[in-house]
Amino acid sequence: MENFDSSENISSEENFHPVDAERSREKPPKEPKPRSFNFWRGLTTALGAAFIVATLFTLWMPGSLIESGLEARMAQALESASVEGAAPARTPDATAQAKSNRIGIVAGHYGSDSGAVCSNGLTEVEMNLKIATLAQKTLSDRGYQVDLLEENDTRLNGYQAALLVSIHLDSCEYVNDQATGFKVATALSVQNVANGQRLVSCLSSRYGEITALPYHAGSVTDDMTYYHAFNEIDPSTTAAIIEAGFMNMDYRFMTEETDKIAEGIAAGILCYMNNEAIQTNQGP
Ligand SMILES: [Zn+2]
Repeated sequence: MENFDSSENISSEENFHPVDAERSREKPPKEPKPRSFNFWRGLTTALGAAFIVATLFTLWMPGSLIESGLEARMAQALESASVEGAAPARTPDATAQAKSNRIGIVAGHYGSDSGAVCSNGLTEVEMNLKIATLAQKTLSDRGYQVDLLEENDTRLNGYQAALLVSIHLDSCEYVNDQATGFKVATALSVQNVANGQRLVSCLSSRYGEITALPYHAGSVTDDMTYYHAFNEIDPSTTAAIIEAGFMNMDYRFMTEETDKIAEGIAAGILCYMNNEAIQTNQGP
């Protein structure tokens, strides 16, 4: 509703402009003095602007004959300033670099609750933690700074990293014979939608290749897309949640080849970090 009001305002203002323009075009002959005053003021402004632009070009044109000495001196001054003030001058760079090297992995339910529970007592949280720890090690070995986070970790508030991946598993109850495989989702309201989608593509393609688990189409739930951590982290942090498999149908694979699960997730993360090419011909 508010949008309609404001658009009406805009369009009605626009409708006034041509009328105003016509009026001002009619006025000048009647009032020559203000016109000439405006003309001279306009001319001075234009000349002033032209002078400034010309000066700027002279200053910054590479290889300028007149001011190359000044240019060199300025470059030198900047250089020496950054050397003298090395620590403060490099802080933003250092922060950006630390952020680009940082990866967050949430072990789903860790520090909070058990998640899904199997009849034999195996819990989702212990599996998630095992997978997250293995993935963390793989990525740390590659030189990344990897934070292993709890489900409700206080560090999630305003969390800044290249990416955040939360690991969960699906129910240990039998649903149907199609209840096998994984799914990945990103936040609906991320700052950079393309990055979120690329992270999803990377995770889906690498995880699928390494585990050979099917992509469980159509079961991305609101719990995933509206995942609480998506709203807590810094909006610049790309984030995704993976439901790495069904604890019922994929039980054997998960418990016997947990390392493959972790490897698949780590490979998906590396795919995103290294901006690797992804084959897009794989249907869900
Ligand atoms: Zn879960």
